[in-house]
Amino acid sequence: IFDNVTEAPPDKILNLSVMYKADTDATKVDLGVGAYRDNNGKPWVLPAVKEAKRVLSEDPSGNHEYLGVGGVPELTSGAAKLIFGKDSPALADSRVYTIQSISGTGALMVGAQFLAQFKPVKDAPVYISDPTWANHRAIFETAGHTVKTYAYCDFETLTLNINGMIKDLKEATEGSIVILHACAHNPTGIDPTHEQWEQIASVMAERKLIPFFDTAYQGFATGSLDNDAWAIRRFVDYGFEMLVAESFAKNMGLYGERTGCLHTVSNSQEITRRISTQINRVSRATISTASAHGGKIAGTILKDSNLFSQWLEDLKTMSDRIKEMRDGLRTLLEKLGTPGTWNHITDQIGMFSFTGLNATQAEYLKNKYHIYLTDNGRISLAGLNTSNLDYVARAIDDVVRN
Ligand code: PMP
Repeated sequence: IFDNVTEAPPDKILNLSVMYKADTDATKVDLGVGAYRDNNGKPWVLPAVKEAKRVLSEDPSGNHEYLGVGGVPELTSGAAKLIFGKDSPALADSRVYTIQSISGTGALMVGAQFLAQFKPVKDAPVYISDPTWANHRAIFETAGHTVKTYAYCDFETLTLNINGMIKDLKEATEGSIVILHACAHNPTGIDPTHEQWEQIASVMAERKLIPFFDTAYQGFATGSLDNDAWAIRRFVDYGFEMLVAESFAKNMGLYGERTGCLHTVSNSQEITRRISTQINRVSRATISTASAHGGKIAGTILKDSNLFSQWLEDLKTMSDRIKEMRDGLRTLLEKLGTPGTWNHITDQIGMFSFTGLNATQAEYLKNKYHIYLTDNGRISLAGLNTSNLDYVARAIDDVVRN
């Protein structure tokens, strides 16, 4: 009965990680990794997370019961404040509904399935940036949407192609859904400026497009939770009804705990109440209830002011180290006189840099130097450290010259 099943194309990023693990060379470097590594190249459990786990383990009322369909209340209320700001008028007017999800991916999928049923213009497509995180297309296509792309990166200058983006949004059919990276765009590390966000908001309002923000790097991009939520809050002020998928994978280092939230914002308390019943229904049908462990850890951090302060320090530790690696790589390439310009490495933000290296060069780096990066030239700064920075810079210098 399954004779007609064809083989699915391999997931390039997961494949890269398998190849890296299988490589026995001592000098190997993983620049594909989408997770923070410390200066020794090791995964890092945030001190705030360690402390929250201790608190939870000593709670005499702790148990492994199912969560309610909404998730851990401290997490959902804390997460909404984190995204929209504690003085948000949308929160004050009860126009936001937040449900705990299976990390950012689960939030996107629940949102995608909800929209498949309730988007105001039937058959309106979903627009994703060119390029974007590969799973965006997969998620929205799986939920039954037609997926189109809008221009985003100027591949020559490695800057935002704002004119192309505005043109594509202008030409989008009314009611189209537009996936926007709230900060630290993956894979390019290129974010719109505040002025460019204003332009984007203006054309989206004019064309009646629906924003669906994906925020996987809040606090990682600039080190400030508020700065990294600026675009979302601006869109709320602008009066948009919208969705936000939030992940705590990177900013709390809770990758495998699958901790996130889906937020919806509508124009009225009553509409939000109705939306909440439908979102709950979709979530119930797909995951039944969210996963408790990560939700409780994140909820504990968000509700406790001491743990929250510790978390802010942890975010700074991670974002400062990433910035140091950006500065270091650019400085070394410029010192080596590597052909081309390298300012984009420090202009871009977040965990990734779109280096401008091509697929052949990425292959060469892998074969000759055991340096692993995706074939679109994206590197994860988290894979760099003071021990391998010089090696990587020299390897890039070599590949660019040859
Ligand atoms: N969106 C983007 C842009 C991402 O980079 C990621 C993580 N790679 C996610 C969403 C969601 O990841 P997760 O499901 O692990 O939270």
